[in-house]
Amino acid sequence: MKLVDTHCHIHDTGGGENHTRQLWEKLGLNDDQLIARAKQAGVEQMICVGTDLEDSRLAVKFAAAHDRCYASIGIHPHEAKRYVKDGTTFKQLLQLGRSAKVVAVGECGLDYFYSHSSPEDQATLLKLQLEVATALNLPLIFHVRQAFTDFWPIFDTYPNISGVLHSFTDSIATLEQALSRGLFIGVNGIATFAKSPDQLAIYKRIPLSRLLLETDSPYLTPAPYRGTVNEPKHVARVAEYLSALRGEPVTRLATASTKNARLLFAI
Ligand SMILES: [Zn+2]
Repeated sequence: MKLVDTHCHIHDTGGGENHTRQLWEKLGLNDDQLIARAKQAGVEQMICVGTDLEDSRLAVKFAAAHDRCYASIGIHPHEAKRYVKDGTTFKQLLQLGRSAKVVAVGECGLDYFYSHSSPEDQATLLKLQLEVATALNLPLIFHVRQAFTDFWPIFDTYPNISGVLHSFTDSIATLEQALSRGLFIGVNGIATFAKSPDQLAIYKRIPLSRLLLETDSPYLTPAPYRGTVNEPKHVARVAEYLSALRGEPVTRLATASTKNARLLFAI
């Protein structure tokens, strides 16, 4: 089984946001061990996703130093307020985006569940990153939570955008809207502890041709490993769970999602 973890934060083992780094410290593995364990589970490639400028720099550095790892550079909607008045953000992201092994822009988007930044600031930073992605001709990794009503009108003003809705949990209606726009759908460990029939229906409905797998590690550990720190190798658990839920052979699901990841991110 060949898999790709399309969304992880393993570059934060040596820095980044405090809570993320502390989780990696709790797991107690070094970078090479993490990557070797992933490889053993069939995870051949990993995308390290940045959440602010500093963190994106870490992701770029990490990808440059490690085989099988790639970087996405971006500013999470939570962090929007820190950058909205900084006139150099666009230029800095553009520059960083030209580094080796950068395969996407994000995670960017709108998050109205936690309102760490105002909707206006979040929208400004989302547009800025859509422009960076357009200039660099890169796909985007979107983080959108309880904000699709505002997200689509912004998204629709940027033609020729490709990307993934990471950690998708929204609704069948939103799924259809995403599919009609050609987006990929990222599924992680949340699926393994989802209980509501409506949410499980979403995971069954995603066409194989649009499915991407991810961990969002060190967060969102899949069942039955809840209570431990998540790591890229657990993308295999997400694949197994989805295969059972959807009644599809796991190798078929792995092959399709890996092909999608390699196509979208050109890896
Ligand atoms: Zn993430």
